[in-house]
Amino acid sequence: MSVNENPRGQPRFAGPSRANTLAGMSLAFVMAHRVAEAGNVPVGAVVMVADQVVARAGNLRESLQDPTAHAEILALRDASQRLGRWRLEDATVFVTLEPCAMCASALVQARVKKVVYAATEPKTGAHQSVLRLFEGTATEVVQDASAAPESAEMLARFFQDLRQREREARNRQ
Ligand SMILES: [Zn+2]
Repeated sequence: MSVNENPRGQPRFAGPSRANTLAGMSLAFVMAHRVAEAGNVPVGAVVMVADQVVARAGNLRESLQDPTAHAEILALRDASQRLGRWRLEDATVFVTLEPCAMCASALVQARVKKVVYAATEPKTGAHQSVLRLFEGTATEVVQDASAAPESAEMLARFFQDLRQREREARNRQ
């Protein structure tokens, strides 16, 4: 997948082009699917600076047994390490699900310029669903509504499979 093409030659401070936005979000989906294979709730995040991917991660809460191992936290940490700075004011973060309160706070703390997410999270979403933690901050947040159904279906399938496996395990006892 090429995320380096910038056909219209926008200035670098304009953030990713539409083509790179599509690439960033689809890479976030790749990360989500990857971690789901290990039993983690499928959520993926990608950090881009201008038109370059600097970090990508999936939610590893189950794999690491770490309540803070959400995709956004892991991606921010990796991006900061790679760039050698905690201020990510030139970064755009793509995430397949509306960030929770912990991740919203981390994204604001990192001074992330822009967050683009796919599906809303009605129980924990901190952009518009439950809380509005980005209001009055320097971080711009938009929902990519065109990517929302894919994320919602991915999560629904994951929980359906999980319930199926739990039923089968009970029936074997
Ligand atoms: Zn989170």
